[in-house]
Amino acid sequence: MSTSEKPALTGETLDTLTARLKERGEPAFRAKQILEWVYKKRARTWDEMTNIPKPLRAWLAETFEFMPAQLVFNRQSSDVTDKLLLELHDRSLVETVIIRAPQEGVGLDESRKTICISTQVGCAMGCRFCASGLAGLKRDLSAGEIVAQLLQVCYREDARTPRARAELASFDNIVVMGMGEPLANYDAIVRALTIVNADWGLGFGARRITLSTSGLVPKILKLADEPLGIRLAISLHGATDEVREKIMPVNRAFPLAKLIPAVKAFSEKHGRMVTLEFILIEDVNDSLDQAEKLRDIARDLHAHVNLIPYNNVEGLPWKRPSVTRQERFADILRDAGVSVTLRREKGHDIDAACGQLRLKTEKDRELSASAG
Ligand code: SAH
Ligand code: SF4
Repeated sequence: MSTSEKPALTGETLDTLTARLKERGEPAFRAKQILEWVYKKRARTWDEMTNIPKPLRAWLAETFEFMPAQLVFNRQSSDVTDKLLLELHDRSLVETVIIRAPQEGVGLDESRKTICISTQVGCAMGCRFCASGLAGLKRDLSAGEIVAQLLQVCYREDARTPRARAELASFDNIVVMGMGEPLANYDAIVRALTIVNADWGLGFGARRITLSTSGLVPKILKLADEPLGIRLAISLHGATDEVREKIMPVNRAFPLAKLIPAVKAFSEKHGRMVTLEFILIEDVNDSLDQAEKLRDIARDLHAHVNLIPYNNVEGLPWKRPSVTRQERFADILRDAGVSVTLRREKGHDIDAACGQLRLKTEKDRELSASAG
């Protein structure tokens, strides 16, 4: 079922909805009531909003799309990840991933749960290792489409615990690390995260939200000035301009000499550790020299380093280094007192080679269209 191009209710903030209703001569408390139905009581249709007068409900239904992202399927892709494939009004596909990171001594149900959301259909940044960028950018997601991904996760959890509404708070983290470059869709992601964080919205703590960027310097500086208080992760993937430039075209516009001071400004403003993500790709960025340079950057920034063994992407030539080599790389950082995590085989699915599921479904669709 596809949805229309009407603005999504899930993209409205308390202020914008109040203003729209005021234009219609509605009392101010209506906006709060409506949002309560969406985010707290988790209504799925306008008709469930029983304390909203019928004519107003009819106007709402005419004016807004209730849910701008429809579930195509929910697939368990491994024992730690679940993917929701969602379809938008123009038949674009996005994916939202739920990750259960196994922890020592506890069952999967008690493990850390993270939701990974997408911000664009495709990506224009063209990082050479990433499936999301292979077909370029199709379009930005709206704030409503970003928030809708999380509501779809809520619906899924509600269905699993039918006696009570499952709380989004039972998730430990939301990471903006799915398809797309979030800071290239700045206004929509900031608005969406405002809704996710607000008491009248999903009420999810900003400190448990991490946004990952490939390094759009002016937008990092702008984000540092927002009152949001979310965490920041940087896709570094190269510890010198020479290496980074080869795999991340964005480095030409924003080389390390610009990126590092911007990250420093962000972390100083927020008093929080920033995370540096570093995919390890054999013979591309896994030399001991890169490890030493990364160590120096991490120390300078007081940053945490996340080492991620490269995930195979169909059509790309690279592979991950051996475990011994990965460990050697990590040890150079550890020995200098840098806080490091090296993803184990399973947790590594976390990065889920973003965009691969969508690409596959689009290919299947093309095949069935040409066969039909
Ligand atoms: N555009 C943003 C956020 C989405 S990409 C950014 O680049 O930060 C988020 C992460 O996906 C990347 O940092 C990288 O860690 C991961 N990723 C992409 N392709 C990958 C691959 N082939 N193997 C492992 N991780 C990958
Ligand atoms: Fe886009 Fe991030 Fe993938 Fe780079 S790593 S192509 S910025 S989604």
